[in-house]
Amino acid sequence: MPRQFPKISLSEVDESVRLLAEKVYASVLKEEDTKDALSMYTVPEDCPIGLHQDREMEMLKEIAEQYSEESTKRKKNFKMKRSQLVSQQFPSSLNINPEWAMSVVTPLLFPGTPVCPSIPENSPEFQRVTISGDYCAGITVEDYEQAAKTLMKALFIREKYSRLAYHRFPRTTAQFLRSAENQKWNVEDEILPDMCPCPREGEDPYTTEGIPDDLNYSLQMKDGIVYVYDDAEALKQQQPHSLPYPDLETFAIDLTPHHYITTSHCCPIPNDPLYYGFYLHEMLNEMAELKELKGVPHRDFYNVRKVDTHIHAAACMNQKHLLKFIQTTYKTEADRVVLEKGGQMITLKQVFDTLAMDPYDLTVDSLDVHAGRQTFHRFDKFNSKYNPVGASELREIYLKTDNYIKGEYFARIIKEVAHELEESKYQHAEPRMSIYGRSPDEWESLASWFIQHKVHSPNMRWIIQVPRIYDIFRSKKIVQNFAKLLENIFLPLFEATVNPQKNKEIHVFLKYVTGFDSVDDESKHSDHMFSYKSPKPEEWTSDDNPPYSYYLFHMYANIMVLNNLRKERGLNTFQFRPHCGEAGSITHLVSAFLTADNISHGLNLKKSPVLQYLYYLAQVPIAMSPLSNNSLFLEYSKNPLKEFLQKGLCVSLSTDDPMQFHYTKEALMEEYAIAAQLWKLSTCDTCEIARNSVLQSGLSHQEKKHFLGANYLQDGPDGNDIRRTNVAQIRMAYRHETLCNELSFLVEAVKTEASSTQVE
Ligand SMILES: [Zn+2]
Repeated sequence: MPRQFPKISLSEVDESVRLLAEKVYASVLKEEDTKDALSMYTVPEDCPIGLHQDREMEMLKEIAEQYSEESTKRKKNFKMKRSQLVSQQFPSSLNINPEWAMSVVTPLLFPGTPVCPSIPENSPEFQRVTISGDYCAGITVEDYEQAAKTLMKALFIREKYSRLAYHRFPRTTAQFLRSAENQKWNVEDEILPDMCPCPREGEDPYTTEGIPDDLNYSLQMKDGIVYVYDDAEALKQQQPHSLPYPDLETFAIDLTPHHYITTSHCCPIPNDPLYYGFYLHEMLNEMAELKELKGVPHRDFYNVRKVDTHIHAAACMNQKHLLKFIQTTYKTEADRVVLEKGGQMITLKQVFDTLAMDPYDLTVDSLDVHAGRQTFHRFDKFNSKYNPVGASELREIYLKTDNYIKGEYFARIIKEVAHELEESKYQHAEPRMSIYGRSPDEWESLASWFIQHKVHSPNMRWIIQVPRIYDIFRSKKIVQNFAKLLENIFLPLFEATVNPQKNKEIHVFLKYVTGFDSVDDESKHSDHMFSYKSPKPEEWTSDDNPPYSYYLFHMYANIMVLNNLRKERGLNTFQFRPHCGEAGSITHLVSAFLTADNISHGLNLKKSPVLQYLYYLAQVPIAMSPLSNNSLFLEYSKNPLKEFLQKGLCVSLSTDDPMQFHYTKEALMEEYAIAAQLWKLSTCDTCEIARNSVLQSGLSHQEKKHFLGANYLQDGPDGNDIRRTNVAQIRMAYRHETLCNELSFLVEAVKTEASSTQVE
C-alpha cells in the first residue's frame, strides 16, 4: 500500500480553532501578551491563590453537576465501564498475561475492594502502591472526558508523524491507541528506523563495493520540499513518485493548540501522582531493587552501555585535550603551512607569532574556551568560546573540516576522542557536525573529509546539525530565499540516494549518519507568526529569520520524504533530533512533539504540565545536559532532570560540549557522576538513564539487541535483560504498569464518552 500523507484542509476545521491558533502563536511574538494566551499551556506556578480559585470554581461546577440527572448517569456509566475493563475490555491486542493485567488495573478500578492483586509468574514481586477511588474526583465528568479526548488526539497526531518518518513510537502507547479505535495491534504494523549495522572487524567501513545503481529519477524542490519523479517526462507532467509529501497547511492545523491545551486542573494530568507515586515506590522497593542488582554477575554501572546522545563534534574534546594537541602540533609541525590568507601561505609558527603567543606558555586559562559565570544567559558570549584564545584563526585550523589542511587536525582530535571511547569500550558518542546550507558542495566536502581521514569508529555515530542562520546568509546575499537553503541541505542527499554511483563518498558517509539536528539560540525572537498563511520557502525572501516551527516543519518534511525514498531502496533512514525547549517559547515543544524522534534539553517542559504529560505518554526521549544548562540557561539545582526521571519520562544524560563544560577525560562519566552525587541517584537510576540513552540513540537494531537484550523492543520487564542493562526488573515493571494505568484511564474515558453519546 502506498504511504500517503493524510491532508487536512482549513475548510474542515472550526473557525474557533483557527482563531485560537492565531491567538496563541501571535502571543509568542509579543511577550507582554504572552501571559493570557499561553496560560493555557502552563501552570500559574507563581500564583497559588489563582490556582486555588480555579480549583474552587471547578468544585462548584462539580457540585452543580450532581443535580443533573444526565451527568450522574454518565458518571455512573463511566465508572461501570471502567470496572468492566479488567475482565472484558483490557486491550486484547496487548500481548500480556490477563492475570498480570488484573493485578495492574484491579486495585484502581474497584474502590473499596481489598487490594490483593495476584502477581503473575513472570512479573517481579514488589510492593505496589495503589490509589483507589474516583480518578476524576474534583472535576466534572465533562471536563475530564474533554481533557482525555484532547490528550488522545495529540497522541494520535504524534503517532501519524512518527510512523510516516520512520521515527519510533512506543509499543504500549500504540497498543492503547489501537484499543481506543477498537482495533487490534499487530507487531507487523510496527514502524522502526533503519540503521546500518556497524561493519564487522576486518570489514572495510569505507568500501565502495556493492553500491546500488542509478534509478534515473528526476528531482525538483517545490514548496521547500524535494519531490521525486520517475523520469523527466513525469517531472514535466508534474506527476511525482508515490511518497508521502507533507504540506504546510495540514501541519499548521495539526499544530493548533486545541490539541495540546487543556488547563491543568481540569485534566487528568497526574504529574503530581506520577512524582509521588515514584517517591513511594522508591521508599518501599529501593532495597529490593538493589538486591536484584547485587545478584547480577559481571554487570555494574561502569560496564553498562552509555551513549552520549547530544555532543557537538567541534567541542567533543575537553579543554586540556585541545591545549595539549595545539602544543604538540606546534612542537612537531611549526613550519607547516596551515592557512591561506589573501593568497599568502601562513605557517603554524607565523600564526602564533601574529598572535604574539608561545604555545608552550599556553594554559587552559589563556585558551579560554571554558564556559562559566560570564556565559550565563549570554549565548553570544558562549558562541565566542569556540575560538581558542579568542582567535578565529585557531578555530579555523583546529576545529574545521574544510580548511587549508583539509580538516586534518580536527580529524586527528576526533580520532583521539574516539580512541578513548573504544578503550573504555562501554561508552559511545553521537557527535554532531554542521551542514549550513550555504552551498550544495558542503556534503561532498564533509563526506570526503570523513573518508580521507578515516574518521569512522565503532563507538561513534554521526548527526548533522543545521544551524538556524538563514538571516545571516541572506544578509550576505549567499542565498536568495529560504528554499535555496533547504535545497543546498537536502537535494544532495536525494541525489546520493537516487544515484549513489555518482555520489559514492556521500553514499558511504551516510551509512554512519543517523540523524539531523536543528540548532541555535532558542531564546532569539522571530518577528514572523507561523501559521497556514506563512509564505512558502520560495517566497521567503525577506532578511528575517523564519520562526522555529517553520524550520522544524521543513526539515521534518524533507527528512520524512527522504526516509521513505531510502526505505524503498533498502537504505538506512534518519531521525530528526532537534535542540528543543532549552529556552524560548513553549510552542517549540509542540512543534517537536510532532516532528522529532527525540529532543535535546527539554527544560521548558517544566513550565507545561500538559506537554510534559504528553511527552511522558508518548515516551519521547529527551537528551538532557544539566552541566551545559548550568553554564547557560538554568542553575544545576533547578534542573528538572531528576523530576522527569522520577515521573518516568525517557531521559538520558549527555555532555553537549565537553570543551566548554567538563574538566575530565571522561566527560560523560563526569556528567553521570555529578548528577548521581547531587541528586543522590541510585545505581538503578543511573543504569536506567544509561539504558534510555541506548534506546534513543542511532545505534543499529543489532547493537541495541546486544547491549539491552534480544527483546528490547518489548516494553516492561519482558523487554529487559538485567544481565546487560543492570536495571532492576522491579523498576521496569513499575514503569510499565504506571504507563499502562495512565493510558488505560484515557482510553476508557474516550470510549465511555463515545458510547454515552451513542446512547443519546
Ligand atoms: Zn547542544
